[in-house]
Amino acid sequence: MNTTNITVLLPAGRLPLEVMARALKLSREHDLTVYLTNEQNLRLLDVPEAKAEEIRQEFSSLGMQLKAPGRFPLPRVCIGQGNCKLGRTDPQEIAGRMVARFAGREIRPKLKIGVSACIFSCSGATVKDIGVVATKKGFDLYVGGKGGVHPRPGRRVLKEVSEERLLQAVQEVVDFHQARTPKKQRMARLIDDPDFPYPEAV
Ligand code: SF4
Repeated sequence: MNTTNITVLLPAGRLPLEVMARALKLSREHDLTVYLTNEQNLRLLDVPEAKAEEIRQEFSSLGMQLKAPGRFPLPRVCIGQGNCKLGRTDPQEIAGRMVARFAGREIRPKLKIGVSACIFSCSGATVKDIGVVATKKGFDLYVGGKGGVHPRPGRRVLKEVSEERLLQAVQEVVDFHQARTPKKQRMARLIDDPDFPYPEAV
């Protein structure tokens, strides 16, 4: 039997109860495996190809988006203010505003984004293509971080800026990535381009 997998995008890693219930029901019916991804999404493994469209529709009918090429990546977030005493902001809100800014836009694949509510960076923001870290005085922005075979930390390109300035800069670097990426690539390949909008570490 041919199988595939289906990834349900969970904004800020929050799993609505009705989605959890539907995943449980479908997994029991079709003998699926539920996997929680590094990017805080819900992935169903071992989905029979013949049932995949029907299962996708089940989640779409709950208002959920599914992972697909060209979709703006949901930021991975830490638990943040209200749930962690060190949190200086609510990363769910920052991530939500970032995603809203790119609503309806086609984005070239491979970008990973992290938002952390303090300098401990539990979401891994400093090793993401785009990383946001809240500090005492505002937001720091990191770009070009990555894991994998050749891991590297991101370059801090903005320090202690306002949320609006932060979101504007995120848009600039995503636009640059979009303009310079024929198919897909990590931001790390672009940050030393002479035209990259934030060439200096701060
Ligand atoms: S990054 Fe800071 S605020 Fe967020 S969970 Fe970690 S320690 Fe708490």
